[in-house]
Amino acid sequence: MKYDDVPETIAQLYEDLKKKHFPYLANAKILFLANKKKMVKKGRIVLGKCVKPSDLLRYLSRHEAPDEGYDFIILLDNKLMQHCEESDIERVLRHELRHIFFDSDSKNPYSLIDHDFTDFMDEVELNKDDPNWANRVARTVSLIYEQEKDQ
Ligand SMILES: [Zn+2]
Repeated sequence: MKYDDVPETIAQLYEDLKKKHFPYLANAKILFLANKKKMVKKGRIVLGKCVKPSDLLRYLSRHEAPDEGYDFIILLDNKLMQHCEESDIERVLRHELRHIFFDSDSKNPYSLIDHDFTDFMDEVELNKDDPNWANRVARTVSLIYEQEKDQ
């Protein structure tokens, strides 16, 4: 299987982040999944991905996430979760959560937004202790995939 459950620590991390940075996600239903295959976009490894599920997928998840199914699915690289520091997992998770835009006036209040640059402005500020973190973590995770290939 390409996907797996995320470790329980992710749910706790999400709760903490929600309280601190994303109060508007209080009613959002998000499924977190571990992605066991390397995700690549434009030649670069992707550590996390926020996806809006199709209507069909929402319908199929209606019992698990009543009544409308999941609003979003966030895929996190499995090796990131297994081998990296919690602080780095937090950076990735925070980044993915920023992709969710909340409009309280809309009937469908959640949508996906993108960033022009490689990150969101709020995140640049929060990551200023380690502005190069994304490259650093991408390199680490890529190396783990490489080593596995050699075995
Ligand atoms: Zn992004």
